[in-house]
Parts: sequence; C-alpha cells; structure tokens
Amino acid sequence: MNDEPKSIHEFDFTMICEYFSGLERQGPGSRDATLKALSFVDNLTPESETADLGCGTGGQTMVLAEHAPGQITGLDLFGDFIDIFNTNCLQKNLQERVKGIVGSMDSLPFEKASLDLIWSEGAIYNIGYERGLNAWREYLKPGGFLAVSEASWFTDSRPTEIDRYWNDAYPEIDTIPTKVRQMQEAGYVPVASFVLPTTCWIDQFYAPQVPAQMKFLGKYRGNETAEELVKAQRHEADLYRRYHDFYGYVFYIGKRL
Ligand code: SAH
Repeated sequence: MNDEPKSIHEFDFTMICEYFSGLERQGPGSRDATLKALSFVDNLTPESETADLGCGTGGQTMVLAEHAPGQITGLDLFGDFIDIFNTNCLQKNLQERVKGIVGSMDSLPFEKASLDLIWSEGAIYNIGYERGLNAWREYLKPGGFLAVSEASWFTDSRPTEIDRYWNDAYPEIDTIPTKVRQMQEAGYVPVASFVLPTTCWIDQFYAPQVPAQMKFLGKYRGNETAEELVKAQRHEADLYRRYHDFYGYVFYIGKRL
C-alpha cells in the first residue's frame, strides 16, 4: 500500500467491503436455498467445472463444494474476500477442488464452452441480469447449467416508497415472468425458479449485520461515511421488513441450449 490519500470512492468501496467481510454471506441466501437450486442441476460429475461469480467470501461456494462433484472456481472483484475464501477452503480441506481468484464477472478468465455450471448468488446485478445471462452463456458447454439469484418483484404494482427505492438502486428489478422470459431469450431453457424465503433475508442476512454494525461503528466512531453506510443498511432492512410481500430474491435456473 502507498500513502496516497484515497478518493472518496475508493474509501467507500474499501469500507463497504470491510463491513461485509466479517459476515458469512454478503447477500440474502441460505444453505437450504443453495441446495434447493442445486437439486435442479443434473449434469455434474467429478470432471465438471463450476464457476461461482461474485462469490464473496464463499458462504454458498462451500455449501456447493460439499454437495457437488468436480472443480469449483470462485471469482470476485475484491481481493480481501478472495483471501477469506481461500482460507475457508483450507479450513474445510477443500483446497484440492475449490479455489478463489480475483477477477471481474464482465471479463471471465475461462475458456469458451468450458463450464458445466455457472453459479451466482446475489451478484449478477453488478453487471445486470440480462447482460450477465448473455455474456456468460458462451462460457457454458451446451447443456451446461446456470443458477443465479436476482432481485424480483412479486406483483405488477407496489407501494411508491418501495418502487422508488428499488428503481433507484437497481432499475433492472422486474417481475418473475419477465426474468424467466429474459432467460429464455438469452438462450437457456428456464428449468426452475423459486422465491427465497424471508428467513434468507431476515435471519441469514440482516440479523448477522446487527453485531457487525456495532463493531464497525465502534471502530469508525465519528466517521460520517461509516455512519451513513450503517444507516443505509438499516434503512434497507427496515424496507424489507415492511414490504417483503412485494419483492425478494428469486433463484433462476436455466440450461444452455
Ligand atoms: N455471492 C455472495 C456475495 C454476494 S455480494 C453471497 O451471496 O454471499 C456481491 C459480490 O459481488 C461481492 O462480493 C462483490 O465484491 C462482487 N462483485 C461486484 N462487482 C463484481 C464484478 N464486476 N466481478 C466480480 N465480482 C463482483
């Protein structure tokens, strides 16, 4: 590290990553939801190649590795997450089959038509659902599977407050039939879709953030950026508690034609 002062942007990113790096998952999800999605994937063998894109510290990757055969590569933009990921692999004695690498989901370091399965929980939004589905398809073998979780509306209309919030945060949020159609249009057979239960958000994602917030605020006492970050996370959690009938994460599983 050099001593150059960081731009606000870099500082924010580092801080966001620090905030999330102590958590097992960096997005809504659960072991059960990961395994349910995996149950629709039926092509894996010990020779299979899987990529988990935007893997974070690898909460879901380790679940996959314990239940799916073959090699698994976790890819994330943030090196500190990958360091934790690779430490987790060693602790679970999975290092022969699972490795984390730093890279971007918009320029994948894999051979074309080399992957049997592309996994991505709560992360495809970083490049956009449609763009991701289209860009990733050519890395799959024909007959290979894709499983992604993605923010989705459950109804055609919804209260203005939550509509505004999401359209500002992620304008590509859309209804389940639209997401399924987009998957088909991108060259996949939509094999299954299911809504993640509220526990994936409330118990698995927001509850562990409460002690993490206390620790974080203790460390950055008086730091406006840190306080804003925690405030924003608390607001997001509050909106979810009030409006979870209208939106959530949906797992979409497709098979490459
Ligand atoms: N899949 C994990 C993490 C989800 S959070 C889980 O469910 O717990 C989204 C992740 O995407 C973060 O780890 C973030 O660092 C990563 N990310 C953001 N932009 C990315 C990009 N362009 N390429 C790869 N990873 C990216």
